Parts: sequence; C-alpha cells; structure tokens
Amino acid sequence: MKNKIIAGNWKMNKTRIEAEQLINALIPLVKGTKNTVVICVPFTDLCKAVKLTKGTNIHVGAQNCHWKESGAFTGEIAPSMLTELGVEYVVIGHSERRTYFGETDATVLARTKAALAAGLKPIVCIGETLEERNSGNMEKVLQRQVREGFKDVTEEELANIVVAYEPVWAIGTGVTATDEQANDAIAFVRSVFADMYGKEAAEKLYIQYGGSMNDKNAEGLLNMSEIDGGLIGGASLVAEKFAAVVNAHK
Ligand code: PEP
Repeated sequence: MKNKIIAGNWKMNKTRIEAEQLINALIPLVKGTKNTVVICVPFTDLCKAVKLTKGTNIHVGAQNCHWKESGAFTGEIAPSMLTELGVEYVVIGHSERRTYFGETDATVLARTKAALAAGLKPIVCIGETLEERNSGNMEKVLQRQVREGFKDVTEEELANIVVAYEPVWAIGTGVTATDEQANDAIAFVRSVFADMYGKEAAEKLYIQYGGSMNDKNAEGLLNMSEIDGGLIGGASLVAEKFAAVVNAHK
C-alpha cells in the first residue's frame, strides 16, 4: 500500500491570525507521519502558510487557479502567482466550484493544464450527486468527468496529479460514504484511468476520498486498498482532528 496524501481544504475559512494559530498547532502534531500532509488555504493565508511551514513536512496548496498566466480575468489567480509564493498544490474543480461558480469539465481541464505547466500539483476533484447515484448514473458521471476532464493530460503530467473522488452528497453533510462505497467508486475511477493511460500509470495515480472524512472514520477509509488519501474539509479546521486523520494511517 502507498503512503497516503492527506490534504485539508479550508474553503473560505480562517483569517491570517486564525491560520497562524491553526498551523502552529498542527506542526508538532503531524511531524512524525510518513504520509504527505497538505493544507489548501484561502489566497490571503498563502504567504503566511508558506512562511510558517518552511522546514516542516506540511505542504501548502491553493483552492483554485486560472488557465491563463495574466489578463482581464477579474477575481482570478494565475498559476505562476501561486508558485511565486512557494505554493505547491492547487485544488481544481471542487464540487462547490462546479455548483456555485459554473466550473465544467472543460474549465477543469484548462485549469489543470495551466497549473501543471506552472509546476503546481493539481488536486482534481470529481464526484457524483445523490440524484446521479440513486438514478444509477454514478459510473456514467464519473466516466465523463475523467474522460472530459483529463482528455488533454499526458501520462507524464498524470504523475503530478492527485485525483479526489468526492461524492457531492457526502461533502459537508456529515454523511460519509461507507468504506466499501468509497473503495468501489475509486476502483471504478482507476479502471477508467487504466483504460486511458494503462494499468501501471493508473496504479501509481493517487486517488483520494473526500466527503465528511474525520478523526472517527479516517482509519477505516484509509485502510481500504484503493484509497490513497483524503481531502478533508470541516475536520481540517481543527488541528487535533486533522492531525488524527493524518495519523490514522501509519
Ligand atoms: C471538501 O471540502 O472537499 C470536503 C470533503 O469537505 P468535508 O470534509 O467538510 O465534507
């Protein structure tokens, strides 16, 4: 089994002072892990996060980036503006971006390509809604998100990508997919990647689970064979809870 990649998605939470407190509390709690630890913080916390985590095992990520390097795109951030700060990861296509801000598989692909070109590691989110799952369309939706959202991504680029399978019905709801549901969906997603890139590339690919993962359910999820880590929202806002998720897999 691979070591895991555990990423916190702070969403639109934490002022700079709160970020400083959270990061300072987190550093000693995760320093012994073999897993990769990432915190994806609001743009305004990035500088502080990079500075505070220097010399630690915590990596810093942003929560979005644009597909162009500059231009008339009010409110957006260019990938090189992130790398310039020392940011390493970026979340792309989170379901909240797809639902509230009109992200599509095409914009996810464009953002992913630009992030890769700048040297960022994209954490690309996919996942079905409850309606899609209940109507028997889960595999169709996941298949489309992977085939469309990765269609111009090369095998070489895939090695620098993390995929997060996040069933929309489990995000921020307190309803977690069972260990088996998460494992089966990720196995399916991996089979689509295997079809596109070959078995070896698909096996190497990190595919996280995300959706109400916390200190209580992390161990079960992270011990499943297909689950290579977690993308954690709510539980990443409390140092002890996030550290417990990180340390749930030895
Ligand atoms: C997320 O934001 O990606 C997420 C999974 O949130 P939560 O853990 O709160 O469900």
